[in-house]
Amino acid sequence: SEVLLEELDHVGPATAQKLKDAGFTTVEAIAVSSPAELATAAEIGESTAAKIILAARQSADIGGFETGDVVMERRKLVGKLSTGCTEFDEMMGGGIDTQAITELYGEFGSGKTQVAHQLAVNVQLPKEQGGLSGSVIIIDTENTFRPERIKQMVEGLSERYGQEYDPEEFLKHIHVARAYNSNHQILLVDSAMELANELKDSDMPVRLFIVDSLTAHFRAEYIGRGTLADRQQKLNKHLHGLQKCGDLYNASVVVTNQVMSKPDAFFGDPTKPIGGHIVGHTATFRLYLRKSKGDKRIVKLVDSPNLPDGEAIISVTTPGLRD
Ligand code: ADP
Ligand code: MG
Repeated sequence: SEVLLEELDHVGPATAQKLKDAGFTTVEAIAVSSPAELATAAEIGESTAAKIILAARQSADIGGFETGDVVMERRKLVGKLSTGCTEFDEMMGGGIDTQAITELYGEFGSGKTQVAHQLAVNVQLPKEQGGLSGSVIIIDTENTFRPERIKQMVEGLSERYGQEYDPEEFLKHIHVARAYNSNHQILLVDSAMELANELKDSDMPVRLFIVDSLTAHFRAEYIGRGTLADRQQKLNKHLHGLQKCGDLYNASVVVTNQVMSKPDAFFGDPTKPIGGHIVGHTATFRLYLRKSKGDKRIVKLVDSPNLPDGEAIISVTTPGLRD
């Protein structure tokens, strides 16, 4: 039942090609874009762009305004992805929400990548076991994705639930792409959306998007005051692209972010996550991770639209995250 770009009103073959080249490969991507964005991408006027967006919205069934009861219906679909840790889940009101961005920030070694790996495993479990029966897309910017670690965590599941789980099966539902720089990272969100669209009606639709790390490339590439605004603008656009992924596919979006362990003249406060207010305003849930004794980590919920702030203690162990 997939609608092709060419089938939309006001989209001829040439425009369709230009849109695809610019990364607008699906009707959904067009439906949630802005006229200015689309006009630039396809070299068309803004009024034509607006008509195309309207056609895409009608076709993709994505409206502009919605009434509260419709929003309520969609909110009812919000899924909860279990972290595998009781306190952590409780602090999050049952788990990591779908249709939202959850930011994990903390120093190097605080466990951000470990949490990301565990969620990539857990998302594949059925609802009864805290999963979303779905697959995961990981944008790996620091080359820290380790299939061996996934294998250990799947073995940890077998231990936990007393039944056999096949690590190979889990690895097959983890789609990983390395991002080589910030522009590449942004483009990968479009590819992620395409893949999610392909898997939409499969038995393992994409229910989790991970970007680990969201900010590392941006931090490395944009140095100096003059480029700060540019960096923030790109980061902002990137985050909105990710939010779209979460909304369109009723998926959780989890991003990691560093804090500086040493004060840095330009990036300022050592305990503040980088990306500043842009990430802060776009992420729905912000979680601050810090090391404690041994394998213990403290996870602090610092910002949430509907939950009280709180703290949870987790353990990062070889078979995975534990209480
Ligand atoms: P971050 O992404 O925040 O920089 P990580 O998530 O990579 O940090 O955390 C690394 C830490 O996770 C290690 O220092 C170690 O404590 C723990 N860890 C990593 N792999 C394992 C494992 N196989 N078994 C137990 N603990 C592990
Ligand atoms: Mg990491």
